[in-house]
Amino acid sequence: MIHDAVVVGAGSAGLSCAHTLQEGGADYALVSENLGGRICYSQKEGVNFGAYFVMANYHHAEKLVTRRTWINPLSCRFHDGNGHSFATLSGHTFLRQPGLAVFAAVMTRFIRHYDRFKKNCEFMSQREAMAVDPYIAELFAQPAAEFIAEHHLGKVAEDYVSKFSYACTGVDLDSITALDFLNVCQGLVVPIHRFEFDEVVEAARLGEHFHRGTVVTHSLDAGVHTVTLADGSTLQARNVVFATPAAVTAKFLDLGELRQTCQLYVEHVSGTLKPGLDTEEMNLFPPTSPVIFTARQDDGSYLVYSREPKIDLPALFADFEVIGRKAWDKAMYVTGRAYVEQQYGDSTYVAGDHNGLGLEPAAISGVYAAHQILKKKA
Ligand SMILES: Cc1cc2nc3c(=O)[nH]c(=O)nc-3n(C[C@H](O)[C@H](O)[C@H](O)COP(=O)(O)OP(=O)(O)OC[C@H]3O[C@@H](n4cnc5c(N)ncnc54)[C@H](O)[C@@H]3O)c2cc1C
Repeated sequence: MIHDAVVVGAGSAGLSCAHTLQEGGADYALVSENLGGRICYSQKEGVNFGAYFVMANYHHAEKLVTRRTWINPLSCRFHDGNGHSFATLSGHTFLRQPGLAVFAAVMTRFIRHYDRFKKNCEFMSQREAMAVDPYIAELFAQPAAEFIAEHHLGKVAEDYVSKFSYACTGVDLDSITALDFLNVCQGLVVPIHRFEFDEVVEAARLGEHFHRGTVVTHSLDAGVHTVTLADGSTLQARNVVFATPAAVTAKFLDLGELRQTCQLYVEHVSGTLKPGLDTEEMNLFPPTSPVIFTARQDDGSYLVYSREPKIDLPALFADFEVIGRKAWDKAMYVTGRAYVEQQYGDSTYVAGDHNGLGLEPAAISGVYAAHQILKKKA
């Protein structure tokens, strides 16, 4: 049987692609090692070991998950790494009011452009959508640190936004683009929520379209794509969408230069935080600290994120027990300004978070690939 499309990978990009194909009446197969990819919600522990929050303006990624608790930005403690800290609402914030007002103006302008850019990306490649909006194209090319200097946001960045950005990316402001920086900083001004992802519900929604397995080879012959799974079975289609992480997709296609990845280590801990760390829902640390942030969960347990595999829990907790952990060798494509094309030839598409961080850019790239395939069918 020759399908309209085979989608490889069922993370935010692959699932969004599959749902759009389904809604458009295409005949597709979705093959993936797991459902959710870096969404990685643990039903057993009730915590997110991968992506931690969705923003209220994640119109596509939100369709894949169920919102849980609101994350209160006023319940954060910002640490400087030298034993000093302040809460979101404190005398310190009062001092920074002029800089915070500039930041709010920068974010208002950005969100106006970015909302339009995301909408365009549903039907245009990211490259085409950037050509339509040179403001976004400039942000893609500019290092975040340079943008911050240009907009005189140095103090505000040092105190608040660099720590929030570090919490979202695991790297410092010299590594990421201004576009990724502003994208993640939306979480400071747009409501954000923890979420659940139900694999059983998702599997039922996909039904017979979903095949669990690992794709090991891909070939294209006379307009028909064939993917072979590790168990020797094959799937054939007139189009293929690689919605696998860039490092995996690069084994099947020549993607050229890729951004470099960061490593993230997440531990789910029950215990008592030390005095000074126990007042707010979240503790945010500067990029000089291996520990990135701690976040209190609804049941009183904590998630601790670090860029180093061995997390110094005794430095954070008076007493503790580790409930679960997850290591991400390639957590996110964060460093550098390499651009991955979304189409190769007439019928090969690439979706994922290769050019832009997070669940929503990944989801939109999947929607774009589906729209291209549906357009050919119409
Ligand atoms: C710890 C952590 C925290 C994060 N926090 C946030 C956050 O709070 N908010 C946010 O928006 N983003 C966050 N992100 C980023 C976000 O998770 C990713 O950008 C997004 O999930 C990427 O989706 P994707 O579909 O591109 O890739 P993935 O989710 O990685 O999906 C790829 C899929 O391909 C499958 N696959 C791989 N190889 C093969 C193969 N050979 N054959 C078949 N299938 C294969 C995988 O099993 C997987 O299902 C976080 C990421 C991490 C790791």
